[in-house]
Amino acid sequence: MTVSALNAPDASQLEALLARQKKAFMDSPAPTRQQRIQRLDRLHNALLDHRQALADAISQDFSGRSSAETELAEIMPLLEGIAYYRKRLKRLMKPQRRHAPLTVMPAKVEVHFQPLGVVGIVVPWNFPVFLALSPLIGALAAGNRVMLKSSEFAPATGRLLQTILADNFSADEVCMVGGDVDVATAFTQLPFDHLVFTGSTQVGRIVMRAAADNLTPVTLELGGKSPAIIHPDFPAAEAARRLAFGKGMNAGQICVSPDYVLCHEDQVSEFVSAFSATVEKAYPTLTSNQDYTAIISDRQKQRLEGYLEDARAKGARVIPINPAGEDVSGTRKMPMTLVLNATADMLVMREEIFGPILPVLGYRHLEQALRQVRQRSRPLALYYFDWDKKRANHILQHTHSGGVCINDTLSHVAADDIPFGGIGDSGMGHYHGKEGFLTFSKTKGVVRKGRINLAAMVAPPWGNTLFRLMMAINALRFRHIK
Ligand code: NAD
Repeated sequence: MTVSALNAPDASQLEALLARQKKAFMDSPAPTRQQRIQRLDRLHNALLDHRQALADAISQDFSGRSSAETELAEIMPLLEGIAYYRKRLKRLMKPQRRHAPLTVMPAKVEVHFQPLGVVGIVVPWNFPVFLALSPLIGALAAGNRVMLKSSEFAPATGRLLQTILADNFSADEVCMVGGDVDVATAFTQLPFDHLVFTGSTQVGRIVMRAAADNLTPVTLELGGKSPAIIHPDFPAAEAARRLAFGKGMNAGQICVSPDYVLCHEDQVSEFVSAFSATVEKAYPTLTSNQDYTAIISDRQKQRLEGYLEDARAKGARVIPINPAGEDVSGTRKMPMTLVLNATADMLVMREEIFGPILPVLGYRHLEQALRQVRQRSRPLALYYFDWDKKRANHILQHTHSGGVCINDTLSHVAADDIPFGGIGDSGMGHYHGKEGFLTFSKTKGVVRKGRINLAAMVAPPWGNTLFRLMMAINALRFRHIK
């Protein structure tokens, strides 16, 4: 199948692609470390060769995406991810010796890590390269073959990635298809050996239902409202500066973007001044500023503007940060906007924001802020600002979230050696690091017996000497625990 035929394949073409990959996997089910590294190296070199073209394609899809952000949040972490697995693959692939209980002895008890087969990856639009290739890297490191479905909302990037992957991998090794929701629906109905879906919670539910028909295991990388909590002892201005960096990235269109801030009520105005000053300095203009990323589509911009109208109508104070006072109507740029006095019935507090809007809520007691976070669905990320390690540990133990950054935002995603993934409404399963390797591997328990067969000596008729000895030893080992 040619690359152009892969732009909108029908269900039978998708099935044929999967069948080809499954056959290739069956013919070569145990790729060596060298073969896996070779695949990762091809990806590494392709990224170096096409980093500018990829940045241009993403910018075309966004009608303006900062190339520095593409470099920092897509290309660099991918190169890091490849380097991570290159270095650790030997250790990760090595079978592990495990404990043999009395009932199994004498034997060697082991865990083996085996590739699953063919992994499917569904990609969203917001980081159309990183969120395609990061799970791909984990899946390849674990020895799998991979089919990807690009996002219909990032078509230029999808087309370029299809070509890059087709130039560097055979279609039975790695291939990417394009197409709209119909293709996505057919794609998620394929009997993959594992399916990674990155997207909204709402579509995640549909995807999991489709996968259930095939008993295909899923990793769901979903969204939600990631809170930022600032302890009253932490300087609110410093928290504001750190939060402004994370919130400004991709104009807030990040699954782990800080969604709302909980700040002591006496510090809200200090927070607002410092946040505004930081944003003004970073993005002194908007419409023609290449550092400030646009909103992906008119529909998304209208959605976000609708949230602000709703907040205003319900009595919130809306503060757009537009230093040069530009008219952004008719463009896809949207000023970073703070929302004060937001209430639970406003869309900004009911829906995931996924854009440059940040409600700042004042609290009187920290416990009150914590309660508010715990009452909501478990978020993908939680940000806590406090120099006190003990108090931070208390927050870690008393909240659930996919990941946590203390005194920073976003950086936990770039730390390759820790798992990335949500919990509850923000998703399930992990990739990145060792946990990613395990996600894409069958951890197979193996018992190896040798020439001595104790079972024959313990076997019925019961009551033989060895059986009685075993029972006696067990009676000594397993007594009531006081
Ligand atoms: P989306 O759920 O609308 O779409 C994601 C993908 O799903 C697209 O490729 C689309 O083609 C496909 N799709 C759409 N309808 C489908 C269906 N009925 N069946 C099967 N597939 C279908 O999400 P989006 O707008 O592309 O991305 C934004 C959302 O993704 C936000 O909620 C964000 O938080 C989340 N997200 C999560 C992560 C993460 O790593 N956890 C990363 C980025 C984005």
